[in-house]
Amino acid sequence: MNSWPPEPSPDLPANLPHVARASLCARCRHVQFVESAKGSVFLLCGLAKSDPRFPKYPPQPLLACRGFVARP
Ligand code: SF4
Repeated sequence: MNSWPPEPSPDLPANLPHVARASLCARCRHVQFVESAKGSVFLLCGLAKSDPRFPKYPPQPLLACRGFVARP
């Protein structure tokens, strides 16, 4: 059973917003961290490329997702 808030992953980008750190996406194998020219970091869902049910930039924090696969 998952606990809330989840344990933060030590390998997250340092400038990832706090709200995104607590998101399921931050621990998902499908996530990609995208940094803007201004240094903001966004969470991009890799499943969005092939499955329209998943938004490219999921609203954060995401608390449940059928596509979630834990990163190793
Ligand atoms: S599959 Fe779900 S949890 Fe994983 S990155 Fe996409 S939206 Fe986030």
